[in-house]
Amino acid sequence: MVSTVAKSKVNTDRNWHSFIDGKAEKGTTERQLFNPADGSPLCKVSEADSKMVEKAIKSARKAFDEGPWPKMTAYDRAKVLFAIADKIDEHSEELAELESLNQGKPLREAQYDISDAANCFRYYAGLITKPNGQHVPVPANSETTVVREPIGVCGQIVPWNFPLLMACWKFAPALGAGNTIVLKPSEYTPLSTIRLVELMYECGLPAGVLNIVLGDGKTAGAPLAESKLVDKVAFTGSVRTGKIIAQAALGNLKKVTLELGGKSPMIVFPDMDIDTAVDYALFAIYCNAGQVCSAGSRFVVHESIHDKFVAKMTERAKKIKVGPGNDPETEMGPLVSTQQLKTVTDYIEIAKKEGAKIAYGGNVLTGGKYGQGYYVEPTLFVDVKPDMRIVQEEVFGPVAVVQKFKTEEEALELANGTDFGLAGAVFTNDLALAHRVVKALRCGITWVNGYHFTYNEVPWGGYRQSGWGRELGTFGLDAYTEVKQINVNLDKGPIGWFEK
Ligand code: NAD
Repeated sequence: MVSTVAKSKVNTDRNWHSFIDGKAEKGTTERQLFNPADGSPLCKVSEADSKMVEKAIKSARKAFDEGPWPKMTAYDRAKVLFAIADKIDEHSEELAELESLNQGKPLREAQYDISDAANCFRYYAGLITKPNGQHVPVPANSETTVVREPIGVCGQIVPWNFPLLMACWKFAPALGAGNTIVLKPSEYTPLSTIRLVELMYECGLPAGVLNIVLGDGKTAGAPLAESKLVDKVAFTGSVRTGKIIAQAALGNLKKVTLELGGKSPMIVFPDMDIDTAVDYALFAIYCNAGQVCSAGSRFVVHESIHDKFVAKMTERAKKIKVGPGNDPETEMGPLVSTQQLKTVTDYIEIAKKEGAKIAYGGNVLTGGKYGQGYYVEPTLFVDVKPDMRIVQEEVFGPVAVVQKFKTEEEALELANGTDFGLAGAVFTNDLALAHRVVKALRCGITWVNGYHFTYNEVPWGGYRQSGWGRELGTFGLDAYTEVKQINVNLDKGPIGWFEK
């Protein structure tokens, strides 16, 4: 198939292998990757079998048990993390292009992700040299301190929506705390992670500290969750896979963190400037073509402004420039894969069958500049009921619903009315109302008059079925540590518990 998009400047015509014990290692099978922008073949990737995964785990095990990394001072590890951050910045153009080419997102979004990834390393490089632990007064004559230590070998499994950023959210705190790693990128989007790991090794990581294994979930992911040599598994992905991973981790009761999906509400009260609310609503759902865990996929809108909100959304959504990620004009790119295109179009059909009405969009875009790329129009459903699948289930595409409310109580009931609890937003100028609503939202990330703001400095993660634990901030570092209490007895004599 002939490509219909401009040729990328990055070279994909090279070997794409797993990285084990500090070197690239060819896999045993090959996977063809496709360019989501036009469906043309992109490159082949060699994937690991279970023996290679085992080798990677053993390499990380040795690097942890014998290697210098966990024993190095925090300052020395920080130097490496700072160097990695600078290296990412130096190669930001190349990494962003690779990300856009493989994942489909517009270049400007990829550039943002790459710069955020570099800063994630800077944040943890700084944090690990700051005071931590506790000195505790206890009812005895002892010096009692509490320290944090690395957990050991961490298996990390990430999805395809922010391939490089999700990997860095895991690499930076895990390495900063002194752990060693085996990471499995998504089988759809491994390219930027492979290149990143090559660059990271140029910054002084000892061999074996960071390994990546390429392949699908069953072959390369499951062994990480199951292995008794792995001390922690950190997963970002769907609820379905998260549950499988939690089960698999039971074998050696390894530590588990899960960053899962969402069906996040954005509540709009009538006192809010409607144009501002609409502007954020578009960003909430159509950024990265809706393939964002925190996507605002349910607009919970007061009945008095419902029709105006829908009319303004329609007017603005029609102007969104959909196209290939490497076209500077593009504002929304394609979906990542034919599989995701099918998932999203299936949900559009399900919603129609259930009786939801399309306010705009709903079509696949093909031909012309779209070629055989995986494009879906920005889509909005109205006239939905709370129990419809389009309201309850994560679509992970550019598809949102509008739910109408009369009272604050009703808005909250709708907003909290799914099994998820990742993010939620409220739009109002009434300060007390905003605080009341945010307090009542059952989710881990909230915004007042904003959406999608994400900072390396504050925790990210969800309530209920949106996950276990938190990434980012100090919580993200804690999640890669074990806690140890140290008691030093200051009394010299024996304890005298038993008579001599
Ligand atoms: P997915 O669950 O299908 O796959 C995620 C990763 O798990 C992939 O690397 C996949 O190969 C691997 N995997 C699949 N089956 C496995 C198994 N049995 N054992 C071990 N690994 C296995 O998810 P996806 O479609 O790649 O990503 C989309 C999902 O990720 C959405 O639900 C989204 O909300 C979620 N997500 C959450 C966050 C967050 O921070 N909460 C961030 C990004 C994405």
